[in-house]
Order: sequence, then structure tokens, then C-alpha cells
Amino acid sequence: MNERPTLKGKPKMIGVLTSGGDAPGMNAAIRAVVRTAINRNIRVLGVNNGYQGLIDGDVIEMDLRKVSNILHRGGTILKTARCKSFYNLEGQKKGRNMCLEMGIEGLVVIGGDGSFRGAKALTALGIPTVGIPGTIDNDISCTDYTIGFHTALNTVIDAIDRLRDTSESHNRCSVVEVMGHGKGDLALFASVAGGGTACWINEIGFNVERDIIYKMKTTLRTGKHNFIIVVSEGITDVHALAKEIQEKTGVESRATVLGHIQRGGQPCAFDRILASRMGFHAVELLEQGIGNRVIVIQNDQITDMDINEALEMPGKVNYKMLEINNAINI
Ligand code: ATP
Repeated sequence: MNERPTLKGKPKMIGVLTSGGDAPGMNAAIRAVVRTAINRNIRVLGVNNGYQGLIDGDVIEMDLRKVSNILHRGGTILKTARCKSFYNLEGQKKGRNMCLEMGIEGLVVIGGDGSFRGAKALTALGIPTVGIPGTIDNDISCTDYTIGFHTALNTVIDAIDRLRDTSESHNRCSVVEVMGHGKGDLALFASVAGGGTACWINEIGFNVERDIIYKMKTTLRTGKHNFIIVVSEGITDVHALAKEIQEKTGVESRATVLGHIQRGGQPCAFDRILASRMGFHAVELLEQGIGNRVIVIQNDQITDMDINEALEMPGKVNYKMLEINNAINI
């Protein structure tokens, strides 16, 4: 289905909000939206606290200087929130009515797939809304990368490198739990870049005996005595796993849960550039009155896709990356 609701003319004012979990690069996306719009004589309201702020009319008029010095900052200056009332039509209508009251004729929503469902609802109620994928999980199938993923990946690799130093010095095994919410890209990419002897992600069949114990015992015989095992969050108790590894291989093992440090920090160059490109493209769509689209990067090209189609796309597993990990991290 290709809904492209169009406005009668170029909007005089648009809004921008961040929603769901924060991700490094969200600020760079806000900045790109604000500056591209102002450059085209479109006023911009920044909506605080995601959809809750929209319902409450909690907005601030943005200008060029309000987005100064945020390009390199993690988090989001507009704050982000999870808003229960936006799941139902009543809350969505309140949001739409507030847009009409404040003169918001188009909206950019920076967030994950839940946030895009809200964007779809708002478009259906007459406010063209465009989604920009901002989440560290890289769990939005229609885009090769989401804003924040590469920064989080660098954070994880930095942590793994540090753990490796101590694992190497003590001949230990480090079991590292990384974020991912059912999507293993962060774990998988981190394992390839950080030298994970095994990488356990939710999407694949995994056998601890075969994929960790046997592999470690085989590798021990080649003279390697320190190991990194990367595990996506929510699959298993990594402390119990470390204990099991120690008991079965004789290699002293410790688990580290990286947790929320993965969500913060300065966005890397890739995320800043991705956010800038996506923010620019989002405004170009709204300028034409086009909503119900998600901005995506595919083969390094920025383009856009129908939100309904985007939300229906099944998740993909990067089997090639898995094969590479298993082939070279031995
Ligand atoms: P993350 O990557 O952090 O999970 P997300 O955007 O998927 O980001 P959610 O908590 O799923 O995070 O959604 C953010 C907000 O979007 C919700 O709090 C709610 O306000 C709105 N939202 C989510 N799902 C829907 C839906 N089905 N209909 C309308 N609004 C929704």
C-alpha cells in the first residue's frame, strides 16, 4: 500500500520529536531537520518528550542557534519518552488536534519501529509524518543501518578490547552480554570486530556444547588461552554461562554485562553523517506534503519507504557475518 497524503502547499511549519530509547546521533538528526527546514523557510517546533509532549503541547520553537553544538552530543536535546496513551486512537487524536492547534503541518519522528506505528497513526489522521530510524539495535529491517548502531558498536568494541587485555594477561574467558532486544546485529558485528570465539544471538540455533565448549577445547589445543564470548541480551544468564564454561573447559571465566553504557556517548562520524543525510531527506519529503514514509539507507543511498511496508518487513539475519565470525575467530 502506498499512501502518500499530500498537503495543499508547502508547509509553513513542521514539528520534530524523538521517541522510544535514545540513540547517539538523534541530536545530529534534529539539527539536520531544523536547519534544512529553516533553510527552506519552514518554521520548526521541537516537541519535548516524544508523543507525550505532542499531546501536552510541550513544544519549543527551534532556530539555527538552538541546535548549535549538538552535532557531537549523545542523547537527545528534545528528551525522549514512551507514551502509553499514544497506543490508542483517543491519544492519537489528541496529538493530531494539538498539531492543528499549533500549526504543525508535518512531523518528523526519530525513533524505532514502535515510534513509526505512532507516525503511521498520525498520518492516517491527516498529519503527514515521516520516520527516521534512531535506535542502537539496528532492528529495523528496511534500512541497512539505524542511527546509533555504529556508535554503540564502537562502545562495545572498546569494552571488548579492554576485557581482552585482562583476559589475555590471566588466560581467562570473558563472556560479554551486549544489547540487542532480539536482534543480534550489535553482538554479531562486535564479535567479528572484537574477535569473539563464539557469538550467541537470538535468531539462530545455538548449542553451548558444540558452539562454545567444543570450539574452546579445540582452540586451546592450538595454543590460544584467552577467549571472548559475545552474547545478545535476554538469551541466557551470562554469569551461569561463564560458570559452565569454566567447569567444562578449565578456563577461568567471568561475565560482564555492558548495559546502558552502550546507549550513550558521542556519536561516531558514521552516525553523524547518516543522521544528517536522513534529516535532510525527511524535510524534503514533508516539503512536498509526503508522509507515512520511513527514511532508509540501502547500499549507501538514502531513500524512503512506505511505513506500512517497512513495518511488515521480516527481520533478516546476517548469515554471512556469522560465517565469517565462525571462520576467522578461531
Ligand atoms: P526502541 O528502539 O527504543 O524500542 P521504539 O520506537 O520501537 O524504539 P517503543 O517503546 O516501541 O520504542 O515506542 C515508542 C513510543 O511510540 C511508544 O511509547 C508509543 O508512544 C508509540 N507507539 C508504539 N507503538 C505504537 C502503536 N502501535 N501505535 C501508536 N503509537 C505507538
